[in-house]
Parts: sequence; C-alpha cells; structure tokens
Amino acid sequence: MSRIEFRNVSFRYQEDMPWVLNNVSFAIESDEWVAIIGHNGSGKSTIAKLMNGLLFPEKGEVLVDGQSVNEETVWEVRKQVGMVFQNPDNQFVGTTVRDDVAFGMENHGMPRELMVERIKESLQAVGMTDYESQEPHRLSGGQKQRVAIASVLAVSPQYIILDEATAMLDPKGRKEIMQTIRELQHQRNLSLITITHDLQEVTQAGRVIVMNQGEVWLEGSPRDIFAKKEDLLEIGLDTPFVTKLAEEIKAAGVNLQREPLNHEELLEELWTL
Ligand code: ADP
Repeated sequence: MSRIEFRNVSFRYQEDMPWVLNNVSFAIESDEWVAIIGHNGSGKSTIAKLMNGLLFPEKGEVLVDGQSVNEETVWEVRKQVGMVFQNPDNQFVGTTVRDDVAFGMENHGMPRELMVERIKESLQAVGMTDYESQEPHRLSGGQKQRVAIASVLAVSPQYIILDEATAMLDPKGRKEIMQTIRELQHQRNLSLITITHDLQEVTQAGRVIVMNQGEVWLEGSPRDIFAKKEDLLEIGLDTPFVTKLAEEIKAAGVNLQREPLNHEELLEELWTL
C-alpha cells in the first residue's frame, strides 16, 4: 500500500502549549504531486516533520506505506520519505558535493559500491554532474538546492517533501528547481509533497491541501482551489496573477472556456476566440 496517510492527527509541541494540528486526516498516494499551502504558522512544516518521523503525533496516527511512524519504524520511514528544507546552507555537511550526497546514504548504512553508483546517478538526475568535486559553499542557491535534492534521491525514497525549498532562491533558481522536480517526477515514480507560499508553484501540483490554524481548510485541484477565491481571501491567501487576469478578461465580457492556470493556458484560451 503506497501512500502516506494522516489519521486524525493532533499535535502540540509541549503539553502546556496550544494544539498546532487538530484532527488532521488526508492521504497522499504514490505518484501524486500534492502542494500544501497556508499562511505562516498554519502547521505545514509540522506536517512535513510528522511525515518523516522528525516528530511523532500525540493523537492519531501517521502511516507510511501502511506502517505506523514511531520510534521503531522511523529509520525505515526516513529511507522512504526524503526531505529538502528551505535554507540550502543548513543542509551541507561535506567538504565536496560528492561527500555531501554520500552523507545521507552513510546514515542509512548503504554499501560503498552502491554509494558510488548512486552519487553519479543522482547528481546526473539534477544536472550537477560537473560539480562533483566542488565545495558546496561555492555554488549558487539554486545549485545548492539541486545538490540537496540529489542527496535525498541517492537514498532512493518513494516520497520527497520540499519544505519551502525554493523560498530563498531568485526567480531563475526557483524556475530551475521546479523544472528539475517536474522532470524527476516524470522519470521516476515519485510522490512529491511541496510546501510553498508561491501560488504559481502550486499550479504544478495535481492536488492542493490548504491548511488553516492547524486544520485542513480546503482540498482539491489547483483549478478548484483558485476558483474559491473568497475562501482563500478569508484566510489571507491571494489567487495567482493569471487567475486574476482571467477574471478581469471575463468581466470585460470575453467568454473563456476554462479557468487558465498559467500564462500558456491563458494565451491558448485567447487564441481560440
Ligand atoms: P508553518 O509551516 O505553516 O509556518 P509550523 O508547522 O512551522 O507552521 O508551525 C505551526 C505552529 O507551531 C506555529 O504556531 C509555530 O509557532 C509553532 N511551532 C513550530 N515549531 C515549534 C517548536 N519547535 N516549538 C514550539 N512551537 C513551534
């Protein structure tokens, strides 16, 4: 059973502190790309940490491939669920890119011959083959995040969580990472969970989960979610530029057949007129 499932999960960081997640239930199937959005403090990162056993639920259960995530299963779970964080500089431990990619595998006790093979394979997958002997701190932000993704890929997980992984990058770096991720998802049967503030990034996902104050507020395709403009505004989230533009075009009396998600789709719609 290939899925990550949250069953009535509640969590708080300390007993005398308020609940951060309240009775959260959802499932992410294999091959899916799910985006989790919501304003700061809505519980997104806590969800990510519960998914790979950096935290355990106080109530309810998190299941990865049918196995409950707990102290006994956590290493097995972490092999399956890789995580890329926001700040690339906090993720480097090695003095070269190669060492760095090896580190995650060492943690999982992989044999050396396999490691050499996997380093090559995963750096190639993110387009960083030429940088194997470089010092990580010399790389650009986008390149660092690609190495971070390679480190995760090397362990061969089934799920990859990207927790605001593009937030600190410039638009070019952001675009490159999104392209790398898209290609990876096509090439391997990966499930992706992207946590993001960027609503344009959300359009890449097949499904969106909107969090608000520790609860699942909305769930649906990007198109469904953006159509619920009032609901999003109520919790302080704004729809992307293209959605707004399409609305203005419709308000001006132009009949668009569908809600465009990106500039390409909007142009296609306009061409059909
Ligand atoms: P998001 O990722 O949506 O910004 P988080 O999951 O990081 O939300 O945080 C949810 C809530 O938990 C916030 O109120 C935050 O202040 C609190 N929180 C997060 N991490 C900790 C921690 N280590 N200790 C105590 N409270 C925390």
